[in-house]
Amino acid sequence: MSGDERTDDSAVDFRYLLSQVWGEPRDRKLSADEMAARRDERVRSIVRFAYDRVPWYGRALRERGLEPNDFRSAADLALLPVVEHEDLSAAPDAFLPRDVRMETLLELKTSGSTMMPRRVYHDPEGIVAGWAVKLRERALRDRIVGEARYRSASLSMDGNPTLVREHLRTIAPAVWKLVSESRKFSVFEDTARVVEGLREWRPQHLSGYGSALGRLFRYLKESGESIPLPKAVSFSSDALAPLERRIIEEEFGVPVLGNYGATEAFAIGFECEKGDGYHVHEDVCHVRIADPEGRSLEPGVPGSIIVSNLVNRGTVLLNYRQGDLGEAVAGQCGCGRTLPRIQLLAGRDMLFIERAEGIPLHQYKLYRALKDVGLYRWQVVQTALQQFTVRVISLPGQEPPKLEVGIREAMTDLIGAGLDITIEYPPELERTRTGKVLAYYRP
Ligand SMILES: [Zn+2]
Repeated sequence: MSGDERTDDSAVDFRYLLSQVWGEPRDRKLSADEMAARRDERVRSIVRFAYDRVPWYGRALRERGLEPNDFRSAADLALLPVVEHEDLSAAPDAFLPRDVRMETLLELKTSGSTMMPRRVYHDPEGIVAGWAVKLRERALRDRIVGEARYRSASLSMDGNPTLVREHLRTIAPAVWKLVSESRKFSVFEDTARVVEGLREWRPQHLSGYGSALGRLFRYLKESGESIPLPKAVSFSSDALAPLERRIIEEEFGVPVLGNYGATEAFAIGFECEKGDGYHVHEDVCHVRIADPEGRSLEPGVPGSIIVSNLVNRGTVLLNYRQGDLGEAVAGQCGCGRTLPRIQLLAGRDMLFIERAEGIPLHQYKLYRALKDVGLYRWQVVQTALQQFTVRVISLPGQEPPKLEVGIREAMTDLIGAGLDITIEYPPELERTRTGKVLAYYRP
């Protein structure tokens, strides 16, 4: 059933729902062309809806002399102006359909990790569709665990996912029954007590915040304590540090899967068993990578993750700068899935380098400059005005003194004189908790 045929009624359309849930959750049946056709149909449908009903897009299209018919495929979404966090927080109502019945929508707030708090409303069908495609992630997990019914536990907080689950129970009890039961441990709980709880519950699948899972396994390694090991670990919400991921995968031998979602779009992507990037749920969410001016970038070039939620008719967000960094991955994945892939890069997007003089610089400019120096993997943290730490993983044959001269010259040229730059060579890049992470790139 296409988006055009969707009713505007507030009740969940169960035919639509079931086609989502049972149609092809394991997705390998759809060829890339079939998936693209489904995606593009949703693009056309939601652009028309946005043009007719959502003030911000009606205005944006008219100002550019565009009409819904100019949008034939997902690539055309780039014709829209990039929606920034500031646009949404400044005028949240402009992204809501005219005459929408607010009581039918679920209100979510973004977490306080960014400077611009945003309110995002989701309509019932968007919630269900977003949840349904996550069955792909579940199918993969089930295969790794080796069965379909098993105990899960999560290390998380009562946040938006809990609200969504509760809402699902009200609007679609039949779907809610399919949500697996999980025992929850708070991220604020003392690790020793979490360990105790896990020994008792014996989950075969452990999910949660990357940072909390990382802390748990580091604790197990350092203390020598043990738990019945889960068969799979999945993380979301915040990054799992590379070092900690390695502890889980290599020292404990447990496969790790990342899921990528946001308050603005529940299901953006997921890591498959090959672990080479995130497959995008492109039938509900289109993703492109763009430079600061909003132009799409080639695979392998880091840039802003620009998301279009193709199913939500509450707060309509198309061509929206999510605030994360990533790069497109070329070619088909070895797992056989045809869903396109992106690589997630740690660090927040839209961070500017503050300078003693002159206007702030977008970090992308620094990325370009340091790449030209010949850096391979690196991280830049601005710890204070004029003060930076650059962490470098060098390639064999690269001479540190020469690299350092290049780094200092490039940064001085770009940012200004009088910088205090510390250059380090850690064995691995870790996300830092102090200072702004300006850039963090991996191959
Ligand atoms: Zn794959």
